[in-house]
Amino acid sequence: MKWTEQQLELQHAVSEMGEALSKDHIEWDQRAEFPWEKWQSIKASGVLKVPFPKKYGGHEQDILTTMGVLEQLGYCCEDAGLSFVASTQIVSIGTPLLRFGTESQKAKYLEKICSGRTICAHAITEASGGSDAFAMRTTATLKDDKYILNGSKTFISNGPIADLFAIYAMTDKDKGVMGGASVLLLERGTPGFEIGEPIKKMGLNTSPLCELVFNNCEIPRKNVLGKVGMGFSILDYVMKREILCSFIISVGEMQRRMEKCIEYAKTRKQFGKSIGSFQAIANKIVDMKIAVTSSREAVYRAGKKVQNNQNATIDLAIAKLITSENDVATALNAIQIFGGSGYMVETGLEKDLRNSIAGTIYSGTSEIQRNRIAGMLGL
Ligand SMILES: Cc1cc2nc3c(=O)[nH]c(=O)nc-3n(C[C@H](O)[C@H](O)[C@H](O)COP(=O)(O)OP(=O)(O)OC[C@H]3O[C@@H](n4cnc5c(N)ncnc54)[C@H](O)[C@@H]3O)c2cc1C
Repeated sequence: MKWTEQQLELQHAVSEMGEALSKDHIEWDQRAEFPWEKWQSIKASGVLKVPFPKKYGGHEQDILTTMGVLEQLGYCCEDAGLSFVASTQIVSIGTPLLRFGTESQKAKYLEKICSGRTICAHAITEASGGSDAFAMRTTATLKDDKYILNGSKTFISNGPIADLFAIYAMTDKDKGVMGGASVLLLERGTPGFEIGEPIKKMGLNTSPLCELVFNNCEIPRKNVLGKVGMGFSILDYVMKREILCSFIISVGEMQRRMEKCIEYAKTRKQFGKSIGSFQAIANKIVDMKIAVTSSREAVYRAGKKVQNNQNATIDLAIAKLITSENDVATALNAIQIFGGSGYMVETGLEKDLRNSIAGTIYSGTSEIQRNRIAGMLGL
């Protein structure tokens, strides 16, 4: 990518916050808490504003510029959970609200979303299944001027800290996937809406997720996002951007990991030589270079197609698949290069490995991405 001065300035604003964003990242991970004080640094970095119009306080930039800034976030912020919260904030509600929302919905929410005062989450997955998302059981039934929401969702990132939720629910079961699902905007504190405690998980510990329960929860009709029945189209729009935004962060994280390994391989000595002079170690770093370069190219290639409104189905699936799997592979290699230190919590690399696994699951598992590619190949 060739960046303009303005794009580089936006990236620079994020890297200037790198130290504050990374501060005590291992301790925060061990405590498995959302670092509220660092949310102030995320806000100050300007990253949340990049894709939103100036009239709502944003920088009004395109998707590729947003990705460039998020890659920088991945590179300079050693707290991957915090970066994940930020990308969920951008893509879950602000992005579809801008594209599908009414003027009054935008006026009510967008300024608070891009300033980071309102934290967002989106809820698709249910305990009965995530891959087959539109087999969802949560229903929203119109009664007078309100939708009555019943059901539950699980694994909802940002759930425990969010103020505003995009809930995907069936408004007409008979219509099924196409036309049967809708998206409703639901505010924390609405009667009949219960937000669960954070669920303990393997990694991304500073990014809390939880279960949501709806029990005859009333949502005003005007809170439907887009038109009734547009759930599938909205999810498709959001998932494309979620893949671009979260996996370009992974590219930045892989770049930082590779540089850390190069530095270590040059300075760590065994048998009187730097370990980087042993071909077995050098090759692991070469593999990292290939992984980060091919992932970066794949994610930006998909981003260019999305930006140009071209069909990007296969490109997104390939980009998501190789980046998430390269993230795991490079995290494993980094531990091996660091030897015993790599296995210790204080080096921060075991955390990288735990974090990386999540990427092979959220935004459509590796298996589902392979199915998509197979489908595009006519299989
Ligand atoms: C860190 C994290 C954050 C998340 N954040 C959110 C969030 O903010 N909002 C939200 O709604 N959800 C969120 N999720 C949920 C996530 O989207 C789902 O976990 C994911 O879609 C998989 O669904 P599942 O867990 O029900 O697994 P299942 O769908 O039950 O799949 C189980 C296994 O079967 C495989 N499988 C399923 N169907 C097929 C098939 N047709 N062919 C081949 N293999 C198949 C899967 O790949 C997987 O290996 C999050 C998950 C994680 C781990």
